[in-house]
Amino acid sequence: MDQFYLGNSALYQTLVKGVKLLPAPKPSDAVTSPDMVVGARIRPLLDDDLAAGFPCAVFPRLSQKGLVDVHDLYNHPKGRPILKSFKYQVDSLFDSKTTTEEIYHNLVADLIPVAWNGGIGTLFAYGQTGSGKTFTVSRLVQLVAETLTDGSLGGDREIYFTVVELAGNSAYDLLNSRKPISVLEDSFGVTQLAGVEEHHVRGRAEIMDLIERASSFRQTAPTLKNGASSRSHGICRIRVKNPAADTEGLLYLIDLAGSEAARDVAAHGADRMRETRDINMSLSVLKDCIRGKAMSDALKRAGGPRPKQKRPHIPFRQSALTKVLKHVFDPVGDQVCKTVVIACINPSLGDVGPSKNTLRYAEMLRVVVPKTGETRDVFTAPPPTIRMNTQARESGTTAVPPRLTGPLSSRDLAPNSWQMPFKKRVRPGMVVIWNPNPELCVSLGLAEDDVKLAAVLCPASVMTGAVQDAIRDVADGRGQPRTDFEDSLDGRAQYLCALVTPGPVAEAYELNLWRHTVIAVDDMEKEVILEYDPSARYYYVCS
Ligand code: ADP
Repeated sequence: MDQFYLGNSALYQTLVKGVKLLPAPKPSDAVTSPDMVVGARIRPLLDDDLAAGFPCAVFPRLSQKGLVDVHDLYNHPKGRPILKSFKYQVDSLFDSKTTTEEIYHNLVADLIPVAWNGGIGTLFAYGQTGSGKTFTVSRLVQLVAETLTDGSLGGDREIYFTVVELAGNSAYDLLNSRKPISVLEDSFGVTQLAGVEEHHVRGRAEIMDLIERASSFRQTAPTLKNGASSRSHGICRIRVKNPAADTEGLLYLIDLAGSEAARDVAAHGADRMRETRDINMSLSVLKDCIRGKAMSDALKRAGGPRPKQKRPHIPFRQSALTKVLKHVFDPVGDQVCKTVVIACINPSLGDVGPSKNTLRYAEMLRVVVPKTGETRDVFTAPPPTIRMNTQARESGTTAVPPRLTGPLSSRDLAPNSWQMPFKKRVRPGMVVIWNPNPELCVSLGLAEDDVKLAAVLCPASVMTGAVQDAIRDVADGRGQPRTDFEDSLDGRAQYLCALVTPGPVAEAYELNLWRHTVIAVDDMEKEVILEYDPSARYYYVCS
């Protein structure tokens, strides 16, 4: 992919200069919760990016607050590559010239009085490895430490400092020579970091020493894209105790593990792939918890759920990260909680895919509520855009995004068909695992290690000439032009299918209705049932 971008860098820049931006969303009556703010920071292009020849692909929209445009280049089977544009909305957008101090004053400083007065303030930095998470969080921790100890907040507090690293289900104390510690739940259901050393700090210099110590123990390992990357979550916990009132607040500053896709670490073997899946799973659970908490807060503000209205589910027990952060998602009583997420973006065209994923993740965290405070729409509001059909919509081929909300399978079509042998009951609507040859994987742009899924669309002969033309170049993969689009080839039935490919988070899939291939039933292995998650906007395998 890098070679494709580099080879077409001049064309890309020309296309971007002439691009017609997608219309900005219309102002609406909806607002996001003031207690859950999603920002994005675009770091500058670094010397390495410039030396490699990658142009900038991420552009803040000056005319609208929080709106960012991303332009990507796509291969076109019949001509020169084409430019596609995507737009994403966050609450606060910081361009490459913004300093960490400005971000602190705009977003993070508000968390400190929350913790000082017995509430819970949390900051997450999310993004691809190399996007600036550690750069941002390490400076923010220093700025937080300065404010906590400069005497400006009024009243006496005791401050306790802990820094842990979470890698899968293992946790380490970064202020105690990276000693392993355990994540345990006590008999009251409260998560404890057993064995961690808490440091009672009295001044700025002491905290700075601890920060220095913690960063020297942060675990890093190489990925395909970057020389050094954080493959673990770094959690700085500051406990602010008020002895006079016998209350305590918490401040979490979290440098999340890199959100790269499994294919970016593919060369590093099964262990690294598993580690990446674990990280992606924990990021996916984190997203569900943040959304669940924001919805639950919106409901609370509106006076609780209405009769028969379900309470939002906050699945914080599903990952070690969210278990450690139980207080954030399941606070005691009426404890005030405020959360800030900073999505970190590398603007280089070489990283455009992960940057789109990061911004999409950031958008998913924004729970929009009506200005009136009513919660009716919180659970029914449609997601901002259905991305999986973006390409089709932009090319003007269809205006209707697919909204397949139930399981995607043939089960409902013919109840008795379930008893038939799989290869006899293949029919449109089914999703199947199939086995393409390696050449076909390359020509379809499928990663060799991923499970290959496809949605069956129609018998191959139904295709008209234009559709045949469009898929001819990639249908075979052995370099043979394909002329036979029959329902059956050499007696083997075949179907036009749409590719179902892995999404940016673990176990999630996207239905690519515009990416077709013809698949012989003999190459299909079995049926899978996909279920659509409207909040995540991805499909998940449920059988
Ligand atoms: P991550 O933690 O996301 O893997 P890093 O924080 O290590 O990424 O940043 C990757 C590189 O980019 C580092 O060399 C860092 O100094 C640089 N960098 C990140 N953000 C900025 C910024 N806003 N300004 C200048 N350099 C930055």
